Amino acid sequence: MKKVVKFGGSSLASAEQFKKVGNIIHADESRVYVVPSAPGKRFDEDTKVTDMLLHAYESASEGKDIKEEMKAIKARYDEIITGLELKDFSLDQDFEEITKLLIENPQKDFAASRGEFLNGKIMAAYLGIDFIDSAEVIYFNEEGNLNDYKTYKRLGERLSQCERAVIPGFYGMGKDGNIKTFSRGGSDVTGSIVARASKADVYENWTDVSGFLVADPRIVPDPKPIKYITYRELRELSYMGASVLHEDAIFPVRSCGIPINIKNTNAPEDAGTWIVESTCKKQDYVVTGIAGKKDFCTIFISKAMMNAEIGFGRKVLQAFEENNISFEHMPSGIDTMTIVVHADEFMDKEQSVVSAIHRLAEPDSVEIESGLALIAVVGRGMKSASGTAGKLFTALANKGINIKMIDQGSSELNIIIGVENKDFETAIEAIYKTFITK
Ligand code: ASP
Repeated sequence: MKKVVKFGGSSLASAEQFKKVGNIIHADESRVYVVPSAPGKRFDEDTKVTDMLLHAYESASEGKDIKEEMKAIKARYDEIITGLELKDFSLDQDFEEITKLLIENPQKDFAASRGEFLNGKIMAAYLGIDFIDSAEVIYFNEEGNLNDYKTYKRLGERLSQCERAVIPGFYGMGKDGNIKTFSRGGSDVTGSIVARASKADVYENWTDVSGFLVADPRIVPDPKPIKYITYRELRELSYMGASVLHEDAIFPVRSCGIPINIKNTNAPEDAGTWIVESTCKKQDYVVTGIAGKKDFCTIFISKAMMNAEIGFGRKVLQAFEENNISFEHMPSGIDTMTIVVHADEFMDKEQSVVSAIHRLAEPDSVEIESGLALIAVVGRGMKSASGTAGKLFTALANKGINIKMIDQGSSELNIIIGVENKDFETAIEAIYKTFITK
């Protein structure tokens, strides 16, 4: 049994948190490869080290003196080193080199990546195991995406030479020979890549919550945790705003069937959530999760005999494409179609889209409306349960909520409903109460 364990920033924000991480690693011999994030927030108003580094980079690129900023960052690490009583270990020289490089040639990704690099060095010293610099084993291609072939080859070879190692998250080597990072939260992606390269049995992702919850706890008080979720269900829910894991962290492990276990560093005994390709475990509820987002706009287009006009839909969508807007949903009627887009993308361009639709598709009318919230009710169990949609609509009708849109994919994995922004929270609560009964 071989496990890759990734620890998020809040799990490594202080010496006290580091000790919890140490105990977790020592409690299970199979936890052999460790992927750390940079130190995160110790309390609500605190600043993540990554943000401090990005600020120092900005100051350096404006030619400002960064000595004080670098001192404050170093203090975060020194506090951890002292708290862990790491004798004969110091990051003094690293800080000298990093500061010099930032002054001479400020590079954003290099600056951001040092949070993980330095934390990785501390972790390796604390655990007494090898440190592998991710810049030597994780590679990006010219487009800025992972260079799969080179990465898995080099990283696989390197890992096969070390029984245990620390591989810092978030960065690798760019095609141009400079350090490159993933997008924010990207240590999750590194963990997934390391799991795949080492052919691990499990990828444990340690954070500060005990996995995914059926609904947002800011809306539903004390929601149930999700024990098992499939990759596809997770994709639906994270698209709708449920976020615990970086979206790109799924792909590397998914293709080789490695399950991800989300665990809580502050409550390691909790089972957490298992993200799996497929499972035949009986679900407690038909619905796995409920998530949603506010602020969508609808563009309602009508034209007599639209249904018979070949190419009409393409022309309408071209209007969105010309304006560089991606659409979310497209429910249609006989002589009508509606395009749902996110307000952020649409608002500034609305008139240009409307005129493009008229120019390209010559409709009878175009009406736009804002203030729509979308809610996704996701569950692999819906396929074999009857009456799910009925229950859902009854729950909303009982609360006097008007459903403005319904979209059920043919996969029967989810039902998406549109309600007015003002009904969003009430709708989610009502759906939760209907399906999550025990
Ligand atoms: N430290 C980086 C960030 O704050 C990456 C990570 O934590 O995963 O985004």
